[in-house]
Amino acid sequence: MYQSLTKKISHIFSNLTGKISAQDIDAALGEIEKALIDADVSQQAIQSFKQKIQAENIDLEKVKNLDARSHLMSIVRKALIELLSHNEPLPSFSHSLTVIMLVGLQGAGKTTSCGKIAHWIKSTYPKKQVMMTSVDIYRPKAIEQLKVLANQTHSTFHPHHEGLTPLEICKNAIDHAKRSTTDVLIIDTAGRLDIDQERMQEIQAINKNIKPHHVWYTVDSMMGQSALNTAKAFNDTVDISGVILSKIDSDTKGGVALSVKSVIQKPIFWMGTGEDLAKLEAFDPERIADQLLDMGDIVGLAKKAHKHLDTQKTEKLSKRLSKGLFTLDDMLTQMQQISQMGGLSSILKLLPGAAKLPDHMMKMVEDDTKLKVFESLIQSMTPLERQRPDLIKNQKRRQVRVLQGSGRKKPDINELLKAYEKMKKMTDKMKGGKMKALMQQFAQSGDFDRFSS
Ligand code: GDP
Ligand code: MG
Repeated sequence: MYQSLTKKISHIFSNLTGKISAQDIDAALGEIEKALIDADVSQQAIQSFKQKIQAENIDLEKVKNLDARSHLMSIVRKALIELLSHNEPLPSFSHSLTVIMLVGLQGAGKTTSCGKIAHWIKSTYPKKQVMMTSVDIYRPKAIEQLKVLANQTHSTFHPHHEGLTPLEICKNAIDHAKRSTTDVLIIDTAGRLDIDQERMQEIQAINKNIKPHHVWYTVDSMMGQSALNTAKAFNDTVDISGVILSKIDSDTKGGVALSVKSVIQKPIFWMGTGEDLAKLEAFDPERIADQLLDMGDIVGLAKKAHKHLDTQKTEKLSKRLSKGLFTLDDMLTQMQQISQMGGLSSILKLLPGAAKLPDHMMKMVEDDTKLKVFESLIQSMTPLERQRPDLIKNQKRRQVRVLQGSGRKKPDINELLKAYEKMKKMTDKMKGGKMKALMQQFAQSGDFDRFSS
């Protein structure tokens, strides 16, 4: 996400080398401002960003002595974090019945977010019971969509009877929730592609009469400046209590994320990081700032690794690597683990310096089909062949058997053996804990090409 903004910022910082003057710093800040404007960040947010930078009083003498680039970067990082953060704790859902209403335009991700919130509540507080209801009485499909999500998250779905108004449906749902052992009621509302007065009056009536504990404005982070005017309109109508920033996994410009808090002065509580139910996370300003500054999403990477990696296998593999052992089986394990984490490209994107990767390189990595080809070849080999790839390399009859078993072609085997040899060479460098030194060198140089060619 934010690829284009991150690339620009990363470029501005990498041009700051050698002796740096006050003019250089002004010029860099000017360019950052331009990059923010290009990313559709609102004037309000940019002003606030500039004020935060000015408040830092960049000390030129200090800059001369320190590493100017990292000094300036830390100041920009701090300003970005302030632009994104708030002091409100994450909602705790602690009322005897917590009522949440989601509002926003059509397509913003409200219905999906209802499901994600239910999933989040259930995985954080396994005992809590969730109920959902939809007041989108005009689109039967939207109601069906919510019903499916309720089933998937083991929540209760409160259906509505023909002819009831949205407010009446909500009142009934609350009665239903109180009669059952429901802890949280989530109300999904109807949105249109643009502000629609009737829909606005409906949610206003619900808000006035029901007084939900939380009214969360769901906004598609891929939208442009218009999303901010919409945010204002919704805030004027129902007094939003927080924001759900959806679709930050898409390549968004970053404008909505960086502006929405300044524009409506309401906290961003959640971020949607994908279509799946599990893809809702507490909004983390530091993570976003680090991503924008191309410092890499280390937290995201650690979380990913924790969730998907088989630690036993990883430990075994790293022990073998440190002894200089590396067979085709090890290669397969490594590839399978990478694939479990969502493929190499999804890991690379989280690493510092990823924005510096040339596009063609990213595209090449994006193509995870290679993994599948290699996997099928290795799986058609005997245990001995996996230990000793030289047998495959030198004996034609073994090659023929593996090709038949895997349904692949001769060039695929050649490619596998070549890749293996390259990886083996790299792993030889890791013998005896040299891995750390290698990674440091790797991170400093930002030169990923060296390792791919
Ligand atoms: P609504 O009209 O506001 O209820 O929007 P929906 O919940 O129906 O979502 C619209 C589309 O956005 C659907 O295709 C969702 O799968 C997709 N979507 C919602 N949240 C996310 C997200 O965080 N990431 C991605 N990639 N897609 C999302
Ligand atoms: Mg919907």
